[in-house]
Amino acid sequence: MMNLSGILSGERSTLAVNVSFDMDQTNNNKHDLRFSSPVVLNGIIVKTDDRLVLNAKLSAKVKGQCARCLDDADVSVSEDVIVYLVSGNEIFSEEYDTYVISENHVDLMDLCFIEILNQIPYKLLCKEDCLGMCPVCGSNFNKVQCKCSMSDDNIDVRFDKLKEMIK
Ligand SMILES: [Zn+2]
Ligand SMILES: [Zn+2]
Repeated sequence: MMNLSGILSGERSTLAVNVSFDMDQTNNNKHDLRFSSPVVLNGIIVKTDDRLVLNAKLSAKVKGQCARCLDDADVSVSEDVIVYLVSGNEIFSEEYDTYVISENHVDLMDLCFIEILNQIPYKLLCKEDCLGMCPVCGSNFNKVQCKCSMSDDNIDVRFDKLKEMIK
């Protein structure tokens, strides 16, 4: 939580943001993501036209599940983010993300979590050319070659039977 009272009252016009934190793991159960490094946010909050804008560099390392082989997939997030901090249903730019602050405080951890989710593709891959897994025995094709994947034999056997039936 960051107190924005000073900048909201006009006492100051900018506020430096240099935070690093371990993301609360209970925050993200439903997304099955794990943070493998602290989340770092470095930037500044500026007041312009009665609006607060956060302009910062966000970085994090996240682990998820590969959509093909179900193994761990690592994702590095390193983005410049611009987020409008609004206190209600204000009209704001559609060009940038907005985050609703409450009682003069911004929950930076929550904000970072939302921004990180925005950066992570819907389907994660452990590597670009992941070979996936065997639908029969569940073997990870990146690591092993199982017997059931040699399906050519099965097809040949079936084909032979078909030929016999035609005779
Ligand atoms: Zn994979
Ligand atoms: Zn298999």
